[in-house]
Amino acid sequence: MYETLAKRTSTLVIDGRAVAGERGTLLVIDPALGEPFAECPSASSAQLDAAVAAANRAFAQWQHSSCEERRALLLKIADRIEHNAPELAEIIVREQGKPLALAQMEVGGAVAWTRATAALELPVEVIEDSPTKRIELHRRPLGVVGSITPWNWPLMIAVWHIMPALRAGNTVVIKPSELTPLNTLRLVELIAEVAPPGVVNVVAGGGALGRDMSGHAGIRKIVFTGSTPTGQDIMRNAAGTLKRLTLELGGNDAGIVLPGADIDAVAEGVFQSAFLNMGQTCAALKRLYVHESQYEQMCTRLAAIAARQKVGNGLEEGVSFGPIQNRDQFELVCELVDDARAAGARILCGGEPLPGKGYFYPPTIVADITDGTRLVDEEQFGPVLPVIRYATVDEAVLRANASDNGLGGSVWSSDIEQARAVAARLECGTVWINGHAEVLPHCPFGGCKMSGFGVEFGLEGLLEYTRPQLFNINRPAP
Ligand code: NDP
Repeated sequence: MYETLAKRTSTLVIDGRAVAGERGTLLVIDPALGEPFAECPSASSAQLDAAVAAANRAFAQWQHSSCEERRALLLKIADRIEHNAPELAEIIVREQGKPLALAQMEVGGAVAWTRATAALELPVEVIEDSPTKRIELHRRPLGVVGSITPWNWPLMIAVWHIMPALRAGNTVVIKPSELTPLNTLRLVELIAEVAPPGVVNVVAGGGALGRDMSGHAGIRKIVFTGSTPTGQDIMRNAAGTLKRLTLELGGNDAGIVLPGADIDAVAEGVFQSAFLNMGQTCAALKRLYVHESQYEQMCTRLAAIAARQKVGNGLEEGVSFGPIQNRDQFELVCELVDDARAAGARILCGGEPLPGKGYFYPPTIVADITDGTRLVDEEQFGPVLPVIRYATVDEAVLRANASDNGLGGSVWSSDIEQARAVAARLECGTVWINGHAEVLPHCPFGGCKMSGFGVEFGLEGLLEYTRPQLFNINRPAP
């Protein structure tokens, strides 16, 4: 299995053709081995220009495609992804690190999301319909959409960007993270088998390409998922061409367990939503506030669940916990836990990287820690959860909101009405009650504060790929 992938030559796709990168190749590292296993083409800025030009040529036709044509294309793409699911899942494990079952879920999610996006309707709103006038609000596509994706859920996020763009009649140039480019290169190859040339193009390479995209005069919108500083840089670079932006940035989501919660019932859900994808999920639960009366009980339960995880190479049978995706993130996690330890925190389990070259860090629960510590105040984006004691619910809400981020939050309780009242006070885009980190294709998702703006998914997400056009029709006198 390894050999097949290593020998496979990945290419860019520009104007429907597979092309090599003009800047040679970049090495792609397997985080479980801590060493390269494949190469990825590196695109030049001339190739980015060619991709944008191809996407603009394709837009001339695709913008006029009918609803049925767009829907049919998405359904064909979903079939191509589904047909190639085992290969895509294997690529994801090798370059991203997650366990195979989770990679299979990512591919399954990509198929489901593509089909759900195909089913969305773009409505024409009739604002006035009188004997003298009819006013209709139509939605038109924008043009070329530039998609810049991260390394945590690379295939899923590529699909989240590409499919609504196409469904609304736009064309796309996508740039995956240089850390996890291979699944997206393969995805676009599959798309190119069924889409008109130039409708979806892929360029790969480093962050400089992303910067060029942000300022590119031929791109009308950037959809970006990644860190807040990069989102800010994109916004600055996009200003010159007044691009529309959807920015889905970092989060430091708080979960509040209300007094009297059934700890045994909620602990598993808390653990899974904090450690989803080894904690490398924008809307994972990243700070847990537990009432002092149940603090020790929750800590003990979480540590017991952590101890059950089997850490290892995601391709191995029975592994439930993979490596951290890249060395920088791995080092950040080590640093944050060491800092917490030095500040007097209690490490209940994990707390040290595993020996070897892979970026393995076991699930780590940190107790006796509070706000003002780096692990609580910063986004750890990795397999470590700080558990923070609180005395009153008002205090917990205040501390949960004392963050620049505002992506998600959660409240855990058997009393739904009480949980709902606390939920309404949280400053974030989504509040889950007795859950966290669940995103759905029919529900708008996005953050506030420094977690970005704009939403993805559902009708509201689709509308972000359109501009309004008003028809103001004066009827002739009878
Ligand atoms: P980045 O935000 O830097 O990278 C995401 C994407 O942006 C990649 O494709 C990257 O390209 C590209 N990029 C980098 N710099 C620029 C730029 N100036 N203009 C346009 N595009 C650019 O994430 P990192 O990999 O640096 O991760 C750092 C932190 O980001 C993590 O610790 C985590 O906190 C957060 N993060 C959040 C994610 C989320 O889902 N919201 C996902 C990933 C990370 P390339 O990789 O090729 O340089």
